[in-house]
Amino acid sequence: MITDGLKDEIAAWLEFYHDLGIEEFCPYPRAVTEQADFQPSGSNRSVEREAETVPMTEASLPRSSASSEQAAAAPRPPAAARSLSLFEAEAARRDRCETLNEVREDLGDCHRCKLAAGRKHIVFGQGDPRAELVFVGEGPGADEDEQGLPFVGRAGQLLNRVLHEVGIRREDVYICNVVKCRPPGNRTPERDEVEACSPFLFRQIEAIQPRLVCCLGAPAVKTVLGLKEGILKLRGRFYDFGAAKALATVHPAYVLRNPREERILREDFAKIKAFLRQPTSPAS
Ligand code: SF4
Repeated sequence: MITDGLKDEIAAWLEFYHDLGIEEFCPYPRAVTEQADFQPSGSNRSVEREAETVPMTEASLPRSSASSEQAAAAPRPPAAARSLSLFEAEAARRDRCETLNEVREDLGDCHRCKLAAGRKHIVFGQGDPRAELVFVGEGPGADEDEQGLPFVGRAGQLLNRVLHEVGIRREDVYICNVVKCRPPGNRTPERDEVEACSPFLFRQIEAIQPRLVCCLGAPAVKTVLGLKEGILKLRGRFYDFGAAKALATVHPAYVLRNPREERILREDFAKIKAFLRQPTSPAS
């Protein structure tokens, strides 16, 4: 909902841009969805519909404080018969759940951080778009960069094996990373890279709405949960993560370097399996 105060603020900004000679705004590369077509909050597990798209027009934008007040006072056509204003569209985008496809489309051929320079492929993520369980790793390695898919190298094979041992099918989960492009030499992603890329990770999780997010390794725990202690201290425990839970465990690559620690993955994945066996509440 756009309040009168927000309208005044918007009008003031538009007047400012008008004074600078800026007459047209086209801030979104894609069409926006009509509000009436949005799914109610929390119901995006129902069938995704092809959204009716409505183009934004310059005429839908207020020009000044005075014209904004006149526009606010004037009768409004039904939502279905008019274009969404710039600000209605942005408010609507925030209020509804995006689909994974929309997040991927918005990511585009991303060059938001310096990792773009060395990548072969963006590794967006893979798996069930309605998974109950989302794994978040650190970043793509060489094999992942080559194939454009997450966890397909030796660490991925170990992940698959331990998942299989506890009775979880890889195709039933969703797997992604904190950053979507390979850091050079498989180094830990740097702060500016995480800041550039992690909003897309959170939008992916928001789109999927899993019951559980499993953070693989310290960088994932730090990004998802904001916890900075060592992974061996944080692992094996469940944390609140919005309406979902999160569990921290070691990254499979750590186990490859420390084979005797494979028991950690087994123990923590067994906890995941037990968690997923619990019935969901009617509201979830
Ligand atoms: S790591 Fe993320 S933010 Fe950086 S270029 Fe790749 S997709 Fe974009």
